[in-house]
Amino acid sequence: IQTMRVDRMLSSMGYGSRSEVTRMGKAGIITLDAAEIADAARRIAVTPDLPARMKIDGEALDPLTGVVILLNKPLGMTCSHKDSGVLIYTVLPDRWRRRTPVIATVGRLDKQTSGLILLTDDGDLLHRIISPRSRVRKTYRATLARPLAGNETELFASGELMLDGDAKPLAPAELSVVSETEAIISVTEGRYHQVRRMFAAAGNHVTELHRERLGGLSIPDGMASGQWALLEADNIASIF
Ligand code: URA
Repeated sequence: IQTMRVDRMLSSMGYGSRSEVTRMGKAGIITLDAAEIADAARRIAVTPDLPARMKIDGEALDPLTGVVILLNKPLGMTCSHKDSGVLIYTVLPDRWRRRTPVIATVGRLDKQTSGLILLTDDGDLLHRIISPRSRVRKTYRATLARPLAGNETELFASGELMLDGDAKPLAPAELSVVSETEAIISVTEGRYHQVRRMFAAAGNHVTELHRERLGGLSIPDGMASGQWALLEADNIASIF
């Protein structure tokens, strides 16, 4: 079992700089099994049950690693660390933006797309989800500017649709019609502006786009825009 200095561990988890964590220790707000850790230079065993046993200001510690967050992304926020504008990281607790390794989005949704997006600090998991070889289904509800023509289901399922500028045709995608101007579409790739470009190729225009599902995951009932939840291992397994 790995041991680690408390100040180093907590600062990599975003709780503060090493000197801030030192001060938190002196202030008596760091506890392990209800006993104060006044000296943050102390080494402790990093066991899986540590987050349940260690508290900061009376609150259990965040997960040590393997953070997977499901967020119901609001419209108008950007899935990037740098971009100007409102980043989706701003809906998460401040300290989660300072963690090492960083918490990054699993793929991206456009600024004007809402719905299910994952964030994780697990790079292997991230790549496994977005790899085209994993063929994870991403399901969107699209609202359209014009009525569907009627040939879209066949066109998208064909495996032959070429988008402007792409070298390869799109893998087959599934469309189910909700109304004249609304459809549910499932894709297994994650190309740039893919769904919008697919409908553009069919002579239409997407006015609203909302991701409802990723693999076996969907937005939990009652989870409002901007809300998020940490996923457990069984939720994560249901992605594939
Ligand atoms: N397809 C798009 O065009 N935009 C998204 O945000 C996701 C899929």
